[in-house]
Amino acid sequence: MRKTLYIIGLSTFVFSCTSQQNVKKNTYKPKTPITQAKPTVQTTPPVAPKPKVVSDRGVEFFTTNIADPTKNDNTASYGSIVSAKPGGYKVVKTYFPAVAQNFRQRYLILHYTALPDDKSITVLTQQAVSAHYLVNNTGDNEIYQLVDENKRAYHAGVSAWRNDKNLNDTSIGIEIVNAGYTTDAAGKRTFAPFSDDQVKKVAALVKDIVTRYQIQPTYVLAHSDIAPTRKQDPGPMFPWKKLYDEYQIGMWYDEAAKQTYLEAAQADISARYNEASFIFLIQTSLQKFGYGLESSGTWDDATKKTIEAFQYHFRPQNYDGIMDAETWAILQALNQKYPVK
Ligand SMILES: [Zn+2]
Repeated sequence: MRKTLYIIGLSTFVFSCTSQQNVKKNTYKPKTPITQAKPTVQTTPPVAPKPKVVSDRGVEFFTTNIADPTKNDNTASYGSIVSAKPGGYKVVKTYFPAVAQNFRQRYLILHYTALPDDKSITVLTQQAVSAHYLVNNTGDNEIYQLVDENKRAYHAGVSAWRNDKNLNDTSIGIEIVNAGYTTDAAGKRTFAPFSDDQVKKVAALVKDIVTRYQIQPTYVLAHSDIAPTRKQDPGPMFPWKKLYDEYQIGMWYDEAAKQTYLEAAQADISARYNEASFIFLIQTSLQKFGYGLESSGTWDDATKKTIEAFQYHFRPQNYDGIMDAETWAILQALNQKYPVK
């Protein structure tokens, strides 16, 4: 009995060894030229993943992120697609979208027309100026599109912000029907208010555009921000703070940060107001924030107008163009919150 078990055990061992040898033998692959080892010819080449395209209101959009957000400061996930239609050929837009791309529409610039509705339409459609959109003041629910978003409108003129110039090339322009300002005998400007209906329309329109093109808050600007020596629009009555608070549109400072700068700002204004080094500091701070201003070390006309433009946007209660403690504190709070990347 014991002998029998031994024989079975031995034969199992032998069988096991044989099996191992067989496996080894079966996995051996003779060296052959690579052309012979290649499997049968592949009928389809490897294809990159295809992002889906959907059609929305007659415009096609990618549904997945096709660009690289680490390489583009305004990379967007969802872009409208405009393609060639060459006769006899098929343009395939879903196979190979490149990651190295961003939108040309990087800025959103707001204006007022300084004209009533009918004249605003005539000027913006028949003359040498235009805008992508016109927000009327007739109380209806319409917004007029005058220029396709992929085309350039002539609304910004000579303009600059941060490292960019001639912002017609890279912006969407929105004109708002508004009477602009009147000037009194002393030269003080009084600006016309915007109706609540218009502000709601502007907010909805801006929100839509900013979302689609991923326009940064620091690039949602007034015409006066990008051309401060020439322009005042949309002026101090335009409710930038309301747009920020209620619609998360554009930039605004944090009150607590402003307070932390206020005491030192008051000391600066009272002790150093006419020092060239202080004026240089103000000019540098305005440049750092984005304004296209030259440093002169004096309170020159361009600097005063730039301060006035800053006040229209961020301290509209007083827009005399004179740097005061509150304006200086707000400028520093904004530079802290929105540093240039
Ligand atoms: Zn304008």
